[in-house]
Amino acid sequence: MSLIGSIDLNKKITIYGAGISGLIIAYYLKKKGHQIQILEKSERVGGKIETLTTPYGLVEKAANAIYANTPILDLCHELGLSPIMATKKLKRLIYHQGQTKEQPISKSQLLRIFLNSWRRVPSQASSLYEFLLPLTGETIAYELVSTGLYGIYASDSKEIHPSVFFKGDMNKNYLSYFKSWLKEKKKSVKKLGKATSISFKGGMQDFVDALFQELSQDIKLNCNESLVDNSIICTDAFHASELTQISDLKKIEYKKVFSTTLFTTEKLEPLENAFGVLFSPSNRLNILGLVNNKEIFKRKNEKPYFSYTVIAKNESFKEELRKIYPNLKIENSITTCWERAIPIYNQKRIQLIEEIQRQLPARVALFSNYTGSLSLREIILSASSI
Ligand SMILES: Cc1cc2nc3c(=O)[nH]c(=O)nc-3n(C[C@H](O)[C@H](O)[C@H](O)COP(=O)(O)OP(=O)(O)OC[C@H]3O[C@@H](n4cnc5c(N)ncnc54)[C@H](O)[C@@H]3O)c2cc1C
Repeated sequence: MSLIGSIDLNKKITIYGAGISGLIIAYYLKKKGHQIQILEKSERVGGKIETLTTPYGLVEKAANAIYANTPILDLCHELGLSPIMATKKLKRLIYHQGQTKEQPISKSQLLRIFLNSWRRVPSQASSLYEFLLPLTGETIAYELVSTGLYGIYASDSKEIHPSVFFKGDMNKNYLSYFKSWLKEKKKSVKKLGKATSISFKGGMQDFVDALFQELSQDIKLNCNESLVDNSIICTDAFHASELTQISDLKKIEYKKVFSTTLFTTEKLEPLENAFGVLFSPSNRLNILGLVNNKEIFKRKNEKPYFSYTVIAKNESFKEELRKIYPNLKIENSITTCWERAIPIYNQKRIQLIEEIQRQLPARVALFSNYTGSLSLREIILSASSI
């Protein structure tokens, strides 16, 4: 559960922010019969989630999918939505040492992991890197794991706290720890179903629009009101600090990210049947990840352009991309720069959240991706259990 603080469910609840966190928490509270109102500062709902419809095709400004399991598919059904499932078994490619290829773990690396699995888990590890290092060695703990993290968290394994992925009793060796971790995972899959990426005909906007339809009577747009009693703040940490005057909220760090959708007339051949490409830290590039939109979600009556979304640290990635793929001919591109795109899930954030929790006034709660998880699935599941 990623709600920080507490509210009185028997009184009217004011929700600040109509991004996905605010909309979904409002939806579930209303469904359970609680009285709510939503105050949104901007002129639209959805927050970071917005799909643009262009003559070249759809452009997602932030999330392009929900990694959905059974409760989320049920919610879609409840909202009258028909999700599009991601194509199965797409290749996951890595760009490393001038080549785009699949990068399985080598036999010698697997042997090393096996031999080290009797080592003790460093239970006080402050990063994923420190957690994995005794088991996997440097190449996997930093290079390979950071490559996977870049495209989702825009952070490397030295920045991310292990609790983002690994919870439970760590006072064991790796083998016993992973055995109990896998058992818990299996239990959760049995209960909640296997997850798969989904989107919608009109992109993620359909999901926002469906929630808006349910809540339109309860939302005030262009609203810049100060904090009232019994409220849940569903803004980013910076704006939550402005509302609560808790300065520690401004110390929560975020990654700045550029999300660009490129349209081309020719296919990028190395990406045939691939989900996209991840870029390892050793490349020292600004590109963090590239998503192959049309391979993942096959929509009917789509425009005849190929569509790729690039997540990058700054705008100079286009030159980098042209060097990697010299045949790339960009017809059109749309970039969104997110100043506070993604919270950094580091140890500092955990300590700050504990501190902020102590400073919150009575009947004021915080709920957004920086209080719990980045993933829309986790935000939705947390909201449903409040
Ligand atoms: C490039 C990118 C790609 C991503 N891809 C994925 C993905 O594929 N899958 C996935 O699961 N997640 C993805 N994410 C993460 C996901 O998009 C976010 O976690 C989620 O959208 C955050 O929603 P939110 O409602 O917490 O915050 P926001 O979307 O930031 O919404 C906050 C809202 O609060 C409003 N607000 C601010 N101040 C006030 C105030 N004082 N009063 C009232 N309202 C206020 C804002 O206007 C805004 O509407 C991605 C993120 C980015 C940046």
